[in-house]
Amino acid sequence: MTHYDLERVGDVLVPLDPHGTASSPKLPCQVDHPGGAYSRPSPTRGFPPGVRKIVDVSERTPVAGGEHCECVVIGAGILGLSAAWSLTRRGHEVVVLSAHEPGHALSGSKGSARIFRLSYPDPLYVAMALASQDRWQELERASDRELLHTTGQVSFGADLDALVAAMDAGGAPFEPLTAGETRARFPQMQITGPAVYEAASGVLRADACLDALLRTGGFSLRAPGGVRALEQMPQGGVRIAFHDGAAMSADVVLNCAGPGALSLVPELSAPVVAAASLQQVVYLSPLPAAAQQPPPIFIEWGEDMVYGLPVVGTTMMKLSHHTPGLAVDVSSIGLDDIERDDPALTDLLRAAAARLLPTFAAEPVATERCLYDNTVDTDFVIDRVGDIVIGCGTSGHGFKFGPLIGALLADLALGSTPSFDLARFSLGRSFLARGAGGSS
Ligand SMILES: Cc1cc2nc3c(=O)[nH]c(=O)nc-3n(C[C@H](O)[C@H](O)[C@H](O)COP(=O)(O)OP(=O)(O)OC[C@H]3O[C@@H](n4cnc5c(N)ncnc54)[C@H](O)[C@@H]3O)c2cc1C
Repeated sequence: MTHYDLERVGDVLVPLDPHGTASSPKLPCQVDHPGGAYSRPSPTRGFPPGVRKIVDVSERTPVAGGEHCECVVIGAGILGLSAAWSLTRRGHEVVVLSAHEPGHALSGSKGSARIFRLSYPDPLYVAMALASQDRWQELERASDRELLHTTGQVSFGADLDALVAAMDAGGAPFEPLTAGETRARFPQMQITGPAVYEAASGVLRADACLDALLRTGGFSLRAPGGVRALEQMPQGGVRIAFHDGAAMSADVVLNCAGPGALSLVPELSAPVVAAASLQQVVYLSPLPAAAQQPPPIFIEWGEDMVYGLPVVGTTMMKLSHHTPGLAVDVSSIGLDDIERDDPALTDLLRAAAARLLPTFAAEPVATERCLYDNTVDTDFVIDRVGDIVIGCGTSGHGFKFGPLIGALLADLALGSTPSFDLARFSLGRSFLARGAGGSS
């Protein structure tokens, strides 16, 4: 399990500051949850010019005996932490509640490596990836850490024309390669056809990204054992009920609870949300005699959408498939399920390794399962219903957009105009099965 430098006070996790000393608790209000109780003085930070607080906290009646906060984020994955980060940067008070610590085995954001790329066969996603790139750089500056390690990426296989057209339209730099150029350029790989090379693509150090958000976010993170339900209150605001019977309230809740997000709001059911799936990942080591110029990131577009990426700081490649794995019921999934490999998918990846990566041993040195939070069309859910903002349905390709989606969710929470038209990401959208969102 990933180690985070967090100090635990009761059930509150307090991030350490970048110099390694415990930062002062950042709770905006009194905690009256079993197991943790302390307070801090009222925040002194003012609101930047032009930022409107949509509701004055003092106008709201707290739930009897419960705590009332301005903004509560549910979920400490990349979406929840990014949304919290964006809200605190704009001067708002935020509490993040999460059933598990960041990087937990059941979280879709766990692990060390995620692909960042501009290449999508859809101009909207190309534009969003470009906007997200700027925001990753902002987080790198704020945290003084390299989070996106540029490696370049080669795409090959089916439908490259759509990829090229969308990148062209979106203004993303790329290089089309003939089959001969592809062979000469990437001798570490067995690619037989034409390809598209994208120099800006790289590996996001996923665990470091979560850590950077925690360290520089200025929000508090609590792990009180899980939210059971969210209820819109008649007078406005949201009541948050916990599994242990406790409750609190907030002016606005940003629900980023991954595949279980919609089940927290009983009146919301959206046909666009599909069953979560368990994906298979393998890690490969280079053959002892291999001269090591590690392969770049690759995506083989087509039926299984096998992809691979170097794991920064090691000689290993991470290999997986984008086609949905075994459909699962997230309400009953446990650590046992996530620790059990899928033999058929592991075989598929072994065969892909033997076919594509001649300088790596095809037998995995490690394996991993991970949950995809799916929608039917693979477009995300970024929407607001009443005082609940929903960010979920990332369909296996959401990490790279984390800071952008976080900012869009914060826009919805604060009533500001989002920088992208979010109609395509609404819960009530009409949809076609499996859209152009595409692989990791
Ligand atoms: C194997 C794999 C490879 C991937 N590769 C890539 C890639 O290369 N590039 C890319 O862009 N994307 C990739 N993705 C997708 C990306 O990782 C996800 O889209 C993203 O991490 C989802 O983040 P999230 O914050 O929505 O959800 P999560 O990370 O799952 O976070 C949800 C949070 O909600 C909390 N929670 C859940 N229920 C409750 C509750 N009732 N009460 C309180 N808290 C609750 C959980 O504890 C957790 O903290 C990959 C995903 C997988 C599984």
